[in-house]
Amino acid sequence: MLKLFNTLSRKKEIFQPIKNKKVGLYTCGPTVYDVPHIGNLRCYIFEDILKRTLIYNGYKVRHVMNITDVGHLTSDADTGEDKIEKSAKKQKKSPYEIAKFYTKIFKSNLKDLNVLEPDLWCKATEHIKEQIELTKKLERRGFTYRTKDGIYFDTSLLPDYGKLARLDIKGLKAGARIKIVKGKKNLTDFALWKFPPKDKKRLMEWESPWGIGFPGWHLECAAMSIKYLGVPFDIHCGGVDHIPIHHTNEIAEAEGAYGKNFVNYWLHCGFLKIEGEKMAKSLGNFTTLEDFRKRNFSPLAFRYLCLQAHYRSSLNFTWKGLKSAQNALTKIYETISGYKKESKESPQTWGRRFKEAINDDLNTPLLVSLVWEMIRSSLKESVKLNLLFEIDKILGLNLKDQWQTTSIVPREVLALVAKRENYRQKKEWDKADEVRKKIKKMGWWLEDTQEGPKIKKMIK
Ligand code: AMP
Ligand code: ZN
Repeated sequence: MLKLFNTLSRKKEIFQPIKNKKVGLYTCGPTVYDVPHIGNLRCYIFEDILKRTLIYNGYKVRHVMNITDVGHLTSDADTGEDKIEKSAKKQKKSPYEIAKFYTKIFKSNLKDLNVLEPDLWCKATEHIKEQIELTKKLERRGFTYRTKDGIYFDTSLLPDYGKLARLDIKGLKAGARIKIVKGKKNLTDFALWKFPPKDKKRLMEWESPWGIGFPGWHLECAAMSIKYLGVPFDIHCGGVDHIPIHHTNEIAEAEGAYGKNFVNYWLHCGFLKIEGEKMAKSLGNFTTLEDFRKRNFSPLAFRYLCLQAHYRSSLNFTWKGLKSAQNALTKIYETISGYKKESKESPQTWGRRFKEAINDDLNTPLLVSLVWEMIRSSLKESVKLNLLFEIDKILGLNLKDQWQTTSIVPREVLALVAKRENYRQKKEWDKADEVRKKIKKMGWWLEDTQEGPKIKKMIK
């Protein structure tokens, strides 16, 4: 029995898909104007754990992720510059080149973190027609109005607008200090289709029944998730920052247009913070996977770090924390490298405990501690190995690959180790050091112990 915390009800609910054993999953993708930071990446790791857990429970998952390559403005209040266009101008490139460049980095980051690829990627710029259609549907149902600046959604016409965030609409109005965009009827109204600024030519714009313009950001996720998963579909995810605006407005668009429930389960990941503050590109306090590499940290050490926290709690990032995560992961790799042969035996109690942990709203911190408890138990090593490989289908820490490579040290490496020992015995330290460097270059780490040199595969 899989339980998931649904933001809609603020409760853990037993997961029940719409279609027997099939799950439609939509995860909001990146806005590709810059490299992803580790806060974004935490979110994709959480979604990956969710997806792997669904698969582990025997569901067939159809996973769709979008790429935002137009329409995401620097301000959530439908003002400001388009993030992609801004980056394009700064780098003197076309918006399409910018999007392509950062999409590639994003995808390679996901690969390094062992995040399974979605079944379908979809770009906002390739679904303009669908976004226009959705807006037309809303127009026909009377939800839209026109201002000088675009076509807007009248949120006062949807009785349960704001239900996901539990927005206090009256309170919002009373306490409103932000300047409302000219022509907007209500504070929470948002743009479906925007016209380009009068005096400026945009780099990306399209024809529409309302004139040349571009889609508002929320529209793409509503239009594409509906196209590929239908209405309603099972699970929609993102970071907690998406609850009050982006996801709230997606719901308004979909439910306004179709007159029925849009998504059954909404799951949100807590913030990754740094020095107590949300990590964000706009705050300039961000760290990337590239920064990890420069400091010799493995992306999987970061994955391990994320597993140690529950996805709904915020995670305060520190280098010290990352260091201990890397140590713990290396320790697992080291320990299992001594295990011989995998057995077929899989004691049910352990399997059940693992499953209970992950099925309780993805309790990965408990799962990690169970993994250690099992490693330290008196089970046969071959059985432990079997259990570890099984649970790694969710953890995604490359345990099998690591075990396979560490348990077979290549002959050339062994030869170099012997050569180095030879030099050491002759007290030719410089030469011995040279050989050690060579071994390191080949991806192996040498440690001198009382029982002689020990070789370990360096984690990537
Ligand atoms: P963006 O590229 O800004 O649209 O963000 C991509 C995803 O990362 C979204 O689901 C955001 O909610 C999420 N996100 C952004 N910043 C953080 C953070 N500091 N911690 C966790 N998730 C975040
Ligand atoms: Zn989205």
